[in-house]
Amino acid sequence: LDYTEGTGWHNPRIIPYQPISLDPSSMVFHYGQTVFEGLKAYRTKDEQIFLFRPDRNFKRLNHSNARLCIPPIDEDLALEALKQLILVDREWIPQAEGTSLYIRPFIISTEPHLGVAPSENYQFIIIMSPVGSYYKEGIHPVKIAVEQQYVRAVAGGTGEAKTGGNYASSLKAQEVADKVGYSQVLWLDGRENKYVEEVGSMNIFFKINGQVVTPALNGSILAGITRDSIIQLLKHWNIPVVERKISIDEIYQAYKDGLLEEAFGTGTAAVISPIGELLWKYEKLVINSREIGKLTQELYDTLTGIQNGTKPDPFGWSVEVNSG
Ligand code: PMP
Repeated sequence: LDYTEGTGWHNPRIIPYQPISLDPSSMVFHYGQTVFEGLKAYRTKDEQIFLFRPDRNFKRLNHSNARLCIPPIDEDLALEALKQLILVDREWIPQAEGTSLYIRPFIISTEPHLGVAPSENYQFIIIMSPVGSYYKEGIHPVKIAVEQQYVRAVAGGTGEAKTGGNYASSLKAQEVADKVGYSQVLWLDGRENKYVEEVGSMNIFFKINGQVVTPALNGSILAGITRDSIIQLLKHWNIPVVERKISIDEIYQAYKDGLLEEAFGTGTAAVISPIGELLWKYEKLVINSREIGKLTQELYDTLTGIQNGTKPDPFGWSVEVNSG
């Protein structure tokens, strides 16, 4: 789909995956005016195809668009286009346990112009790829380092938009953590370096003394769709869940007092990732003896079951892609 100032979005087309040609002066290369989304499609044994809450992804894309001065897309039209694209060849969607079709919609600014201003031209593209199980050797807890030197986002910045620049600014910290054996970093807020925000590509939850807590959305955290689903699921089960500010000192104290029972990250890729260790100021906080927690496992089983159509979906989250 193309966008031209004056004409709007036009020229929808499906073409085979291939390199695209862009002018070297395209604004996206220089000023990073781009947004993206990530979601998955599942194919059941009886050949039904489901998307998980895709309306949420297109709504969030428009939210990111607004922040990045990109013209809005028609959310219904985008979903319809996605369905048609999926149905080009349903065999692309793997059926084995834990597998799915990963979908990456994105928008880039294409006007050839060296000067900082919103572009007059854009391209909206959707690419897709089959993905295997995130946990090839079974779900296992990950190690995460609390980031002290770098920040990913600040209040008033682009943190709550899904835009490339946020990920570019996180690369350095990720590289450093990786070298010392930590798979992801846990970001603290960019102002006081005190409050927990989110993990590289996941939101974060803690179970402290029977209560589940997650950082409240504050403008610099991405509003994860998995995060929202987990909160709804916990409420449905009458398990106390609170969205609020959580300082890293509070987490440390809960750990010292033996009250930090479970921790997990949530995101489209892993769905739920149990956290077995947090590195904070050279101290290793081992959580639940590096075992996956009972609640974490229940949430994982339930949410993946709803997504792949093997468990009831009382929330109506799965959207069927009909071949009619
Ligand atoms: N935070 C960040 C920075 C992310 O990139 C992602 C992945 N989209 C998430 C959180 C989790 O969001 P979701 O559950 O919608 O995948």
